[in-house]
Amino acid sequence: MISPLMPNYNRIDVSFSHGEGAWLVASDGRRFLDFGAGIATSSLGHGHEGLSRTIAEQAGRVMHVSNLYRVPQAERLAERLVGASFADSVFFCNSGAEANEALVKAFRRTMADEGKPERYRVICAEGAFHGRTLAMISATGNAKYLAGFGPAVDGFDHVPFNNLNALRMAITPETAGILVEPIQGEGGVRPADAAYLQGLRAAADEFGLLLGFDEVQSGMGRTGRLFAHEWAGVQPDAVSTAKGIGGGFPLGAMLARERVAKALVPGSHGTTYGGSPLACAAGNAVLDVLLAPGFLDGVVASGDRFRAGLDGLVHRYPDVFSAVRGQGLLQGLVCLVPNGEVQAACMNEGLLVVAAGENVVRLIPPLIVGDAEIDEALLRLDGAARRCRPSLMMNAAK
Ligand SMILES: *Cc1c(COP(=O)(O)O)cnc(C)c1O
Repeated sequence: MISPLMPNYNRIDVSFSHGEGAWLVASDGRRFLDFGAGIATSSLGHGHEGLSRTIAEQAGRVMHVSNLYRVPQAERLAERLVGASFADSVFFCNSGAEANEALVKAFRRTMADEGKPERYRVICAEGAFHGRTLAMISATGNAKYLAGFGPAVDGFDHVPFNNLNALRMAITPETAGILVEPIQGEGGVRPADAAYLQGLRAAADEFGLLLGFDEVQSGMGRTGRLFAHEWAGVQPDAVSTAKGIGGGFPLGAMLARERVAKALVPGSHGTTYGGSPLACAAGNAVLDVLLAPGFLDGVVASGDRFRAGLDGLVHRYPDVFSAVRGQGLLQGLVCLVPNGEVQAACMNEGLLVVAAGENVVRLIPPLIVGDAEIDEALLRLDGAARRCRPSLMMNAAK
């Protein structure tokens, strides 16, 4: 018989009663170092004082009022995001998929407003992940996510990731814009080259296209900059973000320059929950931490420390891992044994990690992770790697 909770996930048989910082405590008392952070979402870790107090206080005053009225918390959050980024204006929603939907709608509408309604197509990259709505599984383009859901939504073309020639070849008179992740997350922690991102800007300018970055996973401080595209020194026309922006409270955002933002006139797009006082209070509490002087530099330093340890791990276990890639606190270990085995071995060591495409194990701790916790995670990864050595597995099978 089917479970009352719809069985659309493969859940690990563990649940958590509470957390403290980078640690999660299971209902049976086991303590785990959380290097999954709810898939790069619990950016301030668990039980963060400032964030939880802000949410509780705001919930006690007013949670939701609808976008029929002004929402000061949303105005303040938008103002701060604009002040800290390329953007001129921000639209709030509740998830990454919705942020991407808003971005693609705004791209199409910008072209229509500029007298080119035939330009509606968006070029995306192979190996991408843009979310699970009908349009976003088409933007993602992965056959596994499209299977059984009928015809794909029209308007998305796919080219190999990190290949500028292929992208330029795919531009047609119907192309409105480009949407790529600066670092593909679900696809296996695959960073784009800075030259590729710069080349996308040049191609967009040359052909009059709009450039969008999906920073749902790579944004909000994950790489040590507010947005990962900043490392390449590229100015996009729009960025979608979500995951870390609410520190675990559902919140998404589409940031855009004026050319794109002004397409979303009243009545053109909306959401009931998006940008509520409660969600935006959470977003502001997260920004209080992220934008504090030195915090993002601290993420860079944590990322460097972690990366050095991961490089050592790959060197010590060449039959378990072939490479490490990523930036800041978005790192991936490319596995030579099934990544599910590595994930299970980590779990045995009391370390939570997340699988990703291309047989990668994703390491995405809360951004507040400390040096001692990074070192402890490296120790536990070492223990997990030892369990996963193919020679050991063969001996165990005898
Ligand atoms: C997680 C993710 C999404 C989808 O976000 P949801 O909140 O699950 O809708 C989109 N793009 C990227 C890059 C993601 O990592």
